[in-house]
Amino acid sequence: MSQHIFRTIPSVNKLLESPELSPLTGMYPRQLIVDTVREVLENIRQAFTGKTDVPQPDRIQLPFSDISHFQKEAKGAEDLTQLQTVDISPQRICQLVRVSLQQKLCGIEHAINATGIILHTGLGRAPLTDKAAKQLEHTLKSYCTLEIERFTGRRGSRYHSIEQLICMITGAESAFVVNNNAAAVLLTLDTVAKNKEVIVSRSQLVEIGGSFRMPDVMTRSGALLVEVGTTNKTYLSDYSNAITEHTGLILKVHQSNFKIVGFTESVDIKDLVSLGQTRTIPIAYDLGSGALIDLQKFGLPHEPTVQEAIKAGVDIVTFSTDKLLGGPQGGIIAGKKKWVDLLKKNPLTRALRVGKLTIAALEATLRLYLEEDLALQEIPTLKIILAPLGVVEERGKRLRDIIHQETKISLSSSLIDGVSEMGGGTLPGETVPTKLVSLHSEKIPAEELATQLRGNTPPIFARIEQGRVLLDMRTVYDTEVDTIATALEKISSGFIRNKSADYADKEDK
Ligand SMILES: *Cc1c(COP(=O)(O)O)cnc(C)c1O
Repeated sequence: MSQHIFRTIPSVNKLLESPELSPLTGMYPRQLIVDTVREVLENIRQAFTGKTDVPQPDRIQLPFSDISHFQKEAKGAEDLTQLQTVDISPQRICQLVRVSLQQKLCGIEHAINATGIILHTGLGRAPLTDKAAKQLEHTLKSYCTLEIERFTGRRGSRYHSIEQLICMITGAESAFVVNNNAAAVLLTLDTVAKNKEVIVSRSQLVEIGGSFRMPDVMTRSGALLVEVGTTNKTYLSDYSNAITEHTGLILKVHQSNFKIVGFTESVDIKDLVSLGQTRTIPIAYDLGSGALIDLQKFGLPHEPTVQEAIKAGVDIVTFSTDKLLGGPQGGIIAGKKKWVDLLKKNPLTRALRVGKLTIAALEATLRLYLEEDLALQEIPTLKIILAPLGVVEERGKRLRDIIHQETKISLSSSLIDGVSEMGGGTLPGETVPTKLVSLHSEKIPAEELATQLRGNTPPIFARIEQGRVLLDMRTVYDTEVDTIATALEKISSGFIRNKSADYADKEDK
């Protein structure tokens, strides 16, 4: 039986010369195409012999639905008439080859964020400003003045301009930048509190994004954690009672991705600073999000700003540069010269060093903050958060109207109210009102529709609620509305379905 099927599988050469695959030779390296064709054919053969359960770590994985599709047909193919229904046509195989090639070479690419999560770690957190993007393009295609003093020709510091900007913007005496905020916290603990006790409130032993747990970072750095207070209440006396001759640091961690509500008590940073000064113990404040503009004046809840922390006299403030700040990934350490200079001398800084990409983009972003209005006008994260609902609604109406008017789109849609989330460990539990384009199709279930949207180029990420696909118009750019409409057109005509990596036959469902 299987012999018969094997004979019907087209040969590698025949496939390579087929009109479906020959155009790919300009797009992918030839050897990669040949190898992929072989792999796909081998997978098909294995599916027929029922060996696909054997783990094949070095072999590409076909989309699961495809394998089960083949397997089912192979198992059910009891007689020859059924065998002829097995789809191993060159077209079908070429389609699998194309999907597999795409999967092998797909990397970071432009995506449309219709999830409404403004700082979406999966989608790269803060989108960069035009200025930062231009800076990357202009400066980095050539040699650049990364670590050289232009006027003397002497070796300089790559951190110089970032430090100056941070000090100008926040009033800090000194500043430094590392790979991310996790690195900033690690460097702080390693420098100031190695083999010493660090006092932290129990309510602040947070986990951020799965792999960053405050207690684990402390252990790594060799600091000894001293927990004080309870989950909901910590008093100044809890801190002062915990101070011993071994205390190296008092650390406050901003509860950036959760909220404790109800019967709560926490110690103001100013009181901690006074305590630290009286007992000569440095105070570090992990701010997480690193707001440089107080968003309270725009009706948003208060998120502690870096300026406030510096003004309060905190010795070491750490924050991310790709959250509210709106820059590339990075972590800034700002504060008192005495402490920041000590951090700079730690040999670990070499391992946590940022590259010229980060420096170029961060410099361009920070420069905007020298004039608050400019930052508000130009930084995408801030613009997205502060966009008036009317603007979001207009964008939504435009998409809805195209969907209604375009006869090639066979989906029903409506514009509904909803909320966008900050995400990325910023303003926990706080939402911003938004407008959502709700999509519904008689033929395509919501999950499948969302999958097909992701299969578009560029991929479109949406959310699903109560059987509807929702496109949050706050995080969608104006220029992306037409792209979404075109994608919906392609989905309606079945075009993306056939290209999709998640291709699945109806009866597989
Ligand atoms: C986000 C966050 C971190 C981690 O920052 P990264 O830049 O992602 O490394 C650490 N601490 C707090 C409080 C955070 O909110």
